[in-house]
Amino acid sequence: MSQITEQIHSSEIGDIIENSLNGKKPTQSDSQRLLKSNDVQLMGLAANYLTRKQFGKKASFVNNIILNYTNVCITDCKFCAFYRSPGAEDSYTLSIDQIESRIKISWDIFKIRQVLIQGGHNPNLPLEYYEDVFKLIRRKFPQVGIHGLSPSEIDMIAKVEKSSTTEVLSRLKDAGLQTIPGAGAEILTDSVKEIISPKKISSAEWIRIMEEAHALQIPSSATMMYGHVESNHDIAVHFSQLVKLQEKTNGFMAFIPWSFEPNHTLLQKEGIVTYGAGGIQLLKMIAISRLVFDGLIPHIQSSWLTNGVGMAQLALQYGANDFGGTLIGEEVVSCTGSRSTELTEQKIIEAISQIGYQAEERDNFYNTVCLH
Ligand code: SF4
Repeated sequence: MSQITEQIHSSEIGDIIENSLNGKKPTQSDSQRLLKSNDVQLMGLAANYLTRKQFGKKASFVNNIILNYTNVCITDCKFCAFYRSPGAEDSYTLSIDQIESRIKISWDIFKIRQVLIQGGHNPNLPLEYYEDVFKLIRRKFPQVGIHGLSPSEIDMIAKVEKSSTTEVLSRLKDAGLQTIPGAGAEILTDSVKEIISPKKISSAEWIRIMEEAHALQIPSSATMMYGHVESNHDIAVHFSQLVKLQEKTNGFMAFIPWSFEPNHTLLQKEGIVTYGAGGIQLLKMIAISRLVFDGLIPHIQSSWLTNGVGMAQLALQYGANDFGGTLIGEEVVSCTGSRSTELTEQKIIEAISQIGYQAEERDNFYNTVCLH
């Protein structure tokens, strides 16, 4: 703490850091000043102090598989290298039997505690498909939590069913859906969405569907995909929108900032984004997230998937307390070809212990499964 106090007096963001350490969270304009500042080290010191006060020298992770059940999608996001149009030669949709067999193998070998279920906006899949998948998982693999379907997928199912998103959420919950990933938020300002994902749900719709889920006692994570066409103002608005909803519902368990990977995407092909945002930007995002969400959204994830294990270790010292998940079978980020997207439990435990922390395996509700 004394190291932080010394640096506060000479920093242009000292007042914001001092307020954060005294329990006064950054406002939207404070967030913008933090985003503009290069004093990432001070942000990290303060964020790490707040994180360790809450979690000690522990970092959690989840034994997880990602089930990208279909790559068929009609939404054509410009940042996505994963999707295929309906009828494309290399499009796929997993059958219920294929899903069962993937989960069985993952449970038998890795004792996974979560299946993260995400896919394209496939207009040919009825609600029954998802209900059958969830019922099967709950019946046959009761220890595997179902973390599935982003708000935009829920919206797609509601459109297919000509039903409301609340009704769809309610039926999915009855079938076994437990928690919802925060994907599809990207940046919660429509001027950005107009450029990168004009056919996807609006920011207000994403917030509304999350609010509906929280009202049905389905907790979720929240995400942000940065490093494309957004401005600091857009990111600050994104933070503010999440703070506002969390103050109302308390339904977000975690926040995960992802950096955009441009390889093989339309944004890269059209010359709009050439390179990823880089490591310092990741640390800044992690640190600001902790300062903004401290005492509000408990868990900040280090997102190794787009930045690698080494950066995730650093992120755990800049405000993150969760390493994320083991990954087997992930298709979406691996389509950008930027790095391996396989990571086992042993590698995560080793990465956490290398920085002197204790690894804690968790489930999809962030409950402790065991300490390593
Ligand atoms: S990000 Fe999702 S919704 Fe957008 S094109 Fe890719 S699969 Fe479809």
